[in-house]
Amino acid sequence: MTINPGSTIGIIGGGQLGRMTSLAAANLGYKTHIFSPEENCPAGHYCDQLTVADYDDLNALKAFANSVDVVTFEFENIPHKSISFLEEHAIVRPGFKALEISQNRLKEKDFINSLNIKTAPYARVENTNDLIAAFSKTGTEKAVLKTTELGYDGKGQVVITRQSDLGKVWQDSAMSQAILEGFIPFEKEISVIIARQTSGKSLCFPPAENQHVNGILDVSSVPANIEQRTHLHAKEYTTKIADALGLVGLLAVEFFVLKDGSLLVNEIAPRPHNSGHWTMDGCVTSQFEQFVRAVCDIPLGSTDIVYPTVMKNLIGKDVEKWSSVLGEPNAKLHLYGKNEARKGRKMGHVNYIQSTLDDLK
Ligand code: AMP
Repeated sequence: MTINPGSTIGIIGGGQLGRMTSLAAANLGYKTHIFSPEENCPAGHYCDQLTVADYDDLNALKAFANSVDVVTFEFENIPHKSISFLEEHAIVRPGFKALEISQNRLKEKDFINSLNIKTAPYARVENTNDLIAAFSKTGTEKAVLKTTELGYDGKGQVVITRQSDLGKVWQDSAMSQAILEGFIPFEKEISVIIARQTSGKSLCFPPAENQHVNGILDVSSVPANIEQRTHLHAKEYTTKIADALGLVGLLAVEFFVLKDGSLLVNEIAPRPHNSGHWTMDGCVTSQFEQFVRAVCDIPLGSTDIVYPTVMKNLIGKDVEKWSSVLGEPNAKLHLYGKNEARKGRKMGHVNYIQSTLDDLK
């Protein structure tokens, strides 16, 4: 069903992704209603309505659902019961399946492998014995212990080696359920963002090449410096995953690229993604506009690159450089309106656009 301009898009989550979606929605003539537990949230500054309530407050969710024409998410970690409840009261895009799978690293990896797409070797861990068995199963020299749920930006992750005291690692982790992944000596990391409509029609953005520091995305560059066949496989796998999820909206798929150019999926997110921020200045259509188009089931925009672009995150105190960034030619600054520049907090980003990739370097 098409949601026409003039309608109201309900967005669960009040972070910077919701803020940039709201701004894109406004450009297309839509209103937005943000649902966030936090009063002074980045998206709350630029929406038509803000509901401040917890994600399990069914009364607030019902009033929210009744006030909008479609519900979507800029944050996927909300209780299953709340997602089902929203589905009873509104059109919800993406649906339960995409959200449920992407909330849980074990379900996510089981699902990806069921599609014959590879991931790092992994195993479930609920106690020290599981951890010992899981390390043997991965067969790698190093491994990463991750919480199955609610981990992001490298939080809730511990890298371990064959020399680690696994009993102590498990105790110190304070995790109740975890996944152990073999540590992948990847050549590079890339991500692909796809938009998909109710008809199943979909369109991928070009892959971004990503560099992380301490588990947090630092820089994304487009075009990615990868072989054509890697490019094609990344798009093919992303499309296969979006189709299997029956996704309506946006999906980001993060990949590890191995030495031989083959790909392992690291994780998926059914919403706009930090590695797609380059599109705001370097692409015909921004990921946020495309998100609105997909969720409202109106025609998708072109994903052609206009400028080779390098996106740099401003994390914590980096944001204090805003003034010198503005003095740089071809730097486009985006700030998220957050008051406190805490360590590891994403405060904004800069898109460096150039006419050729060589100029960028
Ligand atoms: P994640 O939150 O799972 O996306 O992890 C954040 C970052 O940590 C990734 O983008 C990688 O740079 C690194 N990382 C996560 N898992 C692995 C792994 N199994 N092998 C190597 N590096 C990893």
